[in-house]
Amino acid sequence: MGMLDGKVTIITGGGSGQGAEEARMFAAEGASTVVVVDLEGTGGEKVAAELGDVGLFFALDVTDAEGWRRLADTMVRTYGRVDVLVNNAGIWLAKGVLETSPEEFRRVVEVNQTGVFLGMWAVAPLMRDAGRGSIVNISSNAGLRGGGMPHAYAASKWAVRGMSRAAAWELAPLGVRVNAVCPGFIATPMIQGGQKTLDHLASISRSGRLGSPEEVARLVTFLASDQSSYISGAEIAIDDAYTS
Ligand code: NAP
Repeated sequence: MGMLDGKVTIITGGGSGQGAEEARMFAAEGASTVVVVDLEGTGGEKVAAELGDVGLFFALDVTDAEGWRRLADTMVRTYGRVDVLVNNAGIWLAKGVLETSPEEFRRVVEVNQTGVFLGMWAVAPLMRDAGRGSIVNISSNAGLRGGGMPHAYAASKWAVRGMSRAAAWELAPLGVRVNAVCPGFIATPMIQGGQKTLDHLASISRSGRLGSPEEVARLVTFLASDQSSYISGAEIAIDDAYTS
């Protein structure tokens, strides 16, 4: 028996890195549907195809409210419900407050924060109607601290924690759980700068290595599943004690 047997699931940013690994793990754990949401022309189609009958690619920029509405309509018409939403899509900007332009700040907030809001805004009503659901929002350990971190990115990831807590409080009486996951340095395409950066980040990690997308996917799968049925409003760091 799989941890997600029969679940209808959506993962944003599912064409790359952690989202792709979560899509594979959801399928392996028995999800009946894994909707891989990503920008057009990226890896999302390939990841969905890998999953066979269970996988479906849906092209969507997470900042597009109308697109989210279309996705929610498609889910209702095709499957009648959504059991799990993982708001994972995100972008990185390695700039401090002195270097960030207002346009850059707004773009990071638009994708990382507003994108998470829109996901909950579009999908939570379906979960409310079904009386159940699990939402997992991907924050960051940059959402738990300020030191050494880029300004707009940290702001957006702190906001994801706040929105997750507020939504968890609001939706718990309706049977819907909301949790935030705060990864540390995870080896994905988001980490730019080649081997030199990877080696540097590994060297400042407490146990001398980066986390893998699979390690994050295991946590997300647990929070998505009924095994975490009394966990809501939690923020779980998966960062090798970096913020301890
Ligand atoms: P990734 O490999 O770059 O994956 C991010 C995914 O989000 C990509 O598929 C990307 O598409 C997609 N995306 C970006 N903007 C989008 C938009 N507007 N609409 C729809 N999809 C969009 O990086 P990752 O490490 O797996 O990141 C997953 C999440 O973990 C992010 O929220 C990130 O902030 C968070 N995180 C990562 C780390 C880390 O060390 N890697 C640490 C803490 C938190 P494209 O490929 O087309 O850009």
